[in-house]
Amino acid sequence: MIQKENKKIKLVIIGAGPAGLTASIYASRYAISNIVISKDIGGQASESFKIENFPASAPISGFDWSQKVAEQAKGFGAEIINDNVKSVEKTGDEFKILTEAGREFTSNALLVASGMERRKLKIKGEKELSGKGVAYCATCDGIFFKDKITAVIGGGNSAAVSALYLADIAKKVYLIHRRSNLRAEETWQKKIADNPKIETVFNNSVEEFLGNEKLEKVVLKNEYNGSKELYIDGIFIEIGYVPADGMLEKLNIKKDNRDYIEVASDMSTNIEGIWAAGDITNGSNNFHQIITACSEGAIAANSIHEFLKKG
Ligand code: NAP
Repeated sequence: MIQKENKKIKLVIIGAGPAGLTASIYASRYAISNIVISKDIGGQASESFKIENFPASAPISGFDWSQKVAEQAKGFGAEIINDNVKSVEKTGDEFKILTEAGREFTSNALLVASGMERRKLKIKGEKELSGKGVAYCATCDGIFFKDKITAVIGGGNSAAVSALYLADIAKKVYLIHRRSNLRAEETWQKKIADNPKIETVFNNSVEEFLGNEKLEKVVLKNEYNGSKELYIDGIFIEIGYVPADGMLEKLNIKKDNRDYIEVASDMSTNIEGIWAAGDITNGSNNFHQIITACSEGAIAANSIHEFLKKG
């Protein structure tokens, strides 16, 4: 059953990551009534085991950082609703936003800041053993593999920081990457090379996960130490993200050739009344960072302020 919300809201923000929460802070300060709908607080940033590059901030866990920003947003009056947006429709100048819990909100403006979803490997055993040794977030689930043999798949920053995080907990970490070198930042690469618990397995990939009740081993594409099978208790798939924009299916929102939402410099999209900010856009020169997401959120709120003033 759909439960219509009677309260008139100027702006609905989808996503409570750095972009959505910053936009809410700015919107509230412009006296724009807004709600943030999100299945979690902090999005991808909340899973970061350490944020070290945010100016004037001492190293902090992504979880703590996200909670602090959410508190700041709430302090300015933000209402953060723990739900998933299922679909969005535009009728005239109004948006109808339907959530998975069956709530329906109406707004004059919409900010899509729903970020990215984890890319899946789509290989045999991945679905079946997910949550049984196959995982996607080392900072969330790494603790279950204390003193165990683990592996991380991927060569970017996510894979690198996950391998380093796991090395503090697990007995051993294989970092499996399909190329001969990582694309992660130099600083992470050096820490990996210096860490005796991390063993890099380059020019190789996982083709299948095997196990009955739980993951027991993986099948590699190429032999490693004389075998294509590698015995592992837990494996983390850290191979990037894809835009989380399923709720926009009914709208003809313009995307670039890599599936990111195309935005102008004011963060507007091709649909009047819809803005986008954060990792889901092709803005900020495609440099997807917490600081650029915050910046895009602030710019979007400013543009929405100008838009609503005219209406
Ligand atoms: P990413 O930079 O896109 O890297 C994904 C990695 O996974 C690449 O090495 C890629 O291989 C590999 N890969 C992709 N599909 C694969 C497949 N099907 N099979 C095997 N390997 C596959 O993604 P990310 O590491 O998740 O990072 C996402 C964004 O978050 C980046 O902008 C990153 O800088 C940012 N981030 C930053 C930090 C930080 O500390 N600054 C921490 C985490 C994330 P190829 O190299 O062959 O393409």
